[in-house]
Amino acid sequence: MKTTLKQYTVKEVCEGFVYNEIEGKGLFGLSGRLTIQPEYQRNYIYADGKRDVAVIQSLLKGYPLGLIYFNKLSGGKLEVLDGQQRITSFGRYVTNKFAVKDEHGMEQYFHSIAADKQARILEAPLLMYECEGTESEIKEWFRTINIAGVPLNNQELLNAVYSGPFVTLGKEEFSNSQNSNAQKWSAYIKGSVNRQEFWERALEWVSKGNAGEYMSKHRTAQTIAEVKTYFNSVLDWVSGVFPDVEKEMRGLDWGTLYETYHRQSYKPAAVKQEVRKLYADPFVKKRSGIFEYVLGGSHDTKLLEVRLFDESTKRVVYEKQTAAAQAGGTSNCPLCAHGHDANKGKLWKLAEMDADHVAAWSRGGKTSPENCEMLCSSHNRAKGNG
Ligand SMILES: [Zn+2]
Repeated sequence: MKTTLKQYTVKEVCEGFVYNEIEGKGLFGLSGRLTIQPEYQRNYIYADGKRDVAVIQSLLKGYPLGLIYFNKLSGGKLEVLDGQQRITSFGRYVTNKFAVKDEHGMEQYFHSIAADKQARILEAPLLMYECEGTESEIKEWFRTINIAGVPLNNQELLNAVYSGPFVTLGKEEFSNSQNSNAQKWSAYIKGSVNRQEFWERALEWVSKGNAGEYMSKHRTAQTIAEVKTYFNSVLDWVSGVFPDVEKEMRGLDWGTLYETYHRQSYKPAAVKQEVRKLYADPFVKKRSGIFEYVLGGSHDTKLLEVRLFDESTKRVVYEKQTAAAQAGGTSNCPLCAHGHDANKGKLWKLAEMDADHVAAWSRGGKTSPENCEMLCSSHNRAKGNG
């Protein structure tokens, strides 16, 4: 990463400073060259009468404010990577947005303090690092520094690295709490608007898992139409195939399921019935697996983690089988008993056997003693988990 150390004064940084009360953000500085709180940054949180005041008192006493980091963009534009809370604090003070108590305990706005004090603030030097780097360098760097005490999550990092018109448009659509679709999306996607999870899924789906590459390619794009279209296709497909919304649908990898199954046709009424049946089945342990199970034609029972026979059922069946085997002089594993090797007459211990469904669960076999058969471990494994 290339870093250049620069020095600016408070006055220079505050040139053209704009604070947006509605968004709670410091917007611009350095005569418009600097974006203070880019989209990926958190809102201004220093306006608590303590941290913002401390910034002003540091300047009045001539204390350094610490290093500030800028991200250098194409065309000479800059964004604040770290330091936006400090910059917004002095920017708001010199534009008379809040007052600070003087040595007599009187609240004073910037315009009412003595000229020499004003000058001390405006002429205070600020040290800035202007950084230019690759995605991995900037990410690494973001992980090392601490932005407002809360580390950025993966999507916030990507937004920072690939900031530009594309990210701005994406956030307007997917990270906007005013978007009335957010409610509908949250039926299928886990997370929150504020922490970028919808935007993250939308990018992951359209890029088939290569969000960074996709963002890099589209960084300067003036449209997010492709992302939106793909995202809506996935969700329209899900809600078309599965008419009922279940809470276990939330957070599934719908993008991959869409890619795998959307060319197949499904009868929503039959799907609905099948899903209801599985929801009502007490032996289905993993309800979130129901959707992929049904999409795949109801074959892969592993997805459902079908509940196994309990210990007392296994013992009852074991004892019954073993008693019959002893009486007949055969193995207590029915498959060994039918074989022709040395195990033909072997009596296995309970711990050496596993329970198996006589009629497979997927074909309606119940997980009850009448449908339970104990097999030796190797025969059970060979038969597969039916
Ligand atoms: Zn056996």
